[in-house]
Amino acid sequence: MTMTSLITGASSGLGAEYARQLAVRGYRLVLVARDAARLEEFAAELTRTGASEVEVLSADLSSPGGLAAVVGRLSETARPVDMLINSAGFGLPLAFEKNDIEDEARHLHLHVEVPMRLMHAALQGMLARRSGTILNIASASAVMPRSTYGAVKSWQVMFSRWAGSRYRSRGVTVTAVCPGYTHTEFHQRLGLAKGEEGISDRLWLDAPRVVEESLRDVARGRAVSVPSKRYKAIYTAARLAPTGLMAKLAARGR
Ligand code: NAP
Repeated sequence: MTMTSLITGASSGLGAEYARQLAVRGYRLVLVARDAARLEEFAAELTRTGASEVEVLSADLSSPGGLAAVVGRLSETARPVDMLINSAGFGLPLAFEKNDIEDEARHLHLHVEVPMRLMHAALQGMLARRSGTILNIASASAVMPRSTYGAVKSWQVMFSRWAGSRYRSRGVTVTAVCPGYTHTEFHQRLGLAKGEEGISDRLWLDAPRVVEESLRDVARGRAVSVPSKRYKAIYTAARLAPTGLMAKLAARGR
C-alpha cells in the first residue's frame, strides 16, 4: 500500500530532504510551504527522479487561512495522510528584549500552536485507522536555556514524549527529532553569512544524515531522535548539567 506523507517546510532544508528520502521509499508526498513556485519546481524535480505522486499545498501557516487549508487536507478521509512531518520553522536573534514582539509571537505560533493543531487534525484519522507516524522537528536546543527558541523546541519535545507514550498502543508513533547545527537555509534566513554563527566546523551536520538517522529512529518507535553520536553526547550532558552553566554555553552563536 502506498503511504502518504505531508511535510511542512518542504521547500528547503530538512523538510525538503525528508521529501527526497521518502520519495525514494515510495511515499506519496504533500509538500507545504509559502513559496508556491519553488514548491512546484521541487515537485517536478521529485517526479523526474521517480516520486510516485507529489501534491503541492502552498500555504502560510502563520495565517489563519493557510493553517486551515493544511488542517483541511489532513482531515480528508478519502485521501488519508499516514505520516505528518512538522518541519516549518525559523529563528530569531537571541536578544529577546530587542526583537519585535510580533516576530516573537509569530515564532511561538509557528513552533507551538501550528504543530499542535496539525497533530490534532492528523490524529483523528490516524487513531481511527490505528496507524500513523508523526515527526516534530525540534532541536538539540530543546535542552538548553536559549531564548524563546530553546523554549518552543522544549515544548515540542515534551509534548511529543507525552503523545508518543499516549498513542503508541493505538498504532500511532510520535517522535521529536533534535538536530544540532545543520546546513540548511535556516541561518542564512536569520541574516547570518557562512561562518558567522561562531560554531566550530565539527559541530555542523548535513541534512541527509540527520534525516536518514531520524527515519531509522522513527522506524524503531523512538520518542526522541538525536542524530549523530556527537549531538547524542551533547544532548545527554546538557540534560544533566546545571542550568547556569548551560545558559553560558548556549549563549554562543547568533
Ligand atoms: P530552512 O531551510 O530555512 O527551512 C524552513 C522551511 O520552513 C522552509 O521550507 C520555509 O519555506 C518553511 N516556512 C517558514 N515559515 C513558514 C510559514 N509561515 N508557513 C509555511 N512554511 C514556512 O530551515 P531548516 O533548518 O530546514 O528548518 C526546519 C526545522 O528544523 C525548523 O523547525 C528548525 O527550527 C529546525 N532545526 C534546524 C536546525 C538547523 O541548524 N538548521 C537545527 C535544529 C532544528 P517558505 O519560506 O517557502 O515558506
